[in-house]
Amino acid sequence: MHELSIAQSIIDILQDQMKIYRLSKVVSVWLRVGALRSVEVEALSLGFDILTAGSPLEGARLEVEEVPLKGQCMACRQQLTLSNGFDDCPVCGEPQVKIISGKELDIVAIEGD
Ligand SMILES: [Zn+2]
Repeated sequence: MHELSIAQSIIDILQDQMKIYRLSKVVSVWLRVGALRSVEVEALSLGFDILTAGSPLEGARLEVEEVPLKGQCMACRQQLTLSNGFDDCPVCGEPQVKIISGKELDIVAIEGD
């Protein structure tokens, strides 16, 4: 379950941020997660809860915005919504589709005291 290692890296970042901004607790964390990351939001939240139990991050809520996988065809310039990273362009059939969104794994905002 790679969600657990993702949860751990989010926690590492949050711990740094808590030091920088002198937060004693974190209420909510807003994340943007691209479809290409194939993260299961429920598994991520569960892993986060398990790893933060008993720590200052316990009880922090993850608000996950899922970013759809989008690409642009390099041949016909059409912007496309893709089901995976290997689709050919459905308009002209060219395989030269560049991913323009869907790889994100970003912390957008942190709310805490
Ligand atoms: Zn095309």
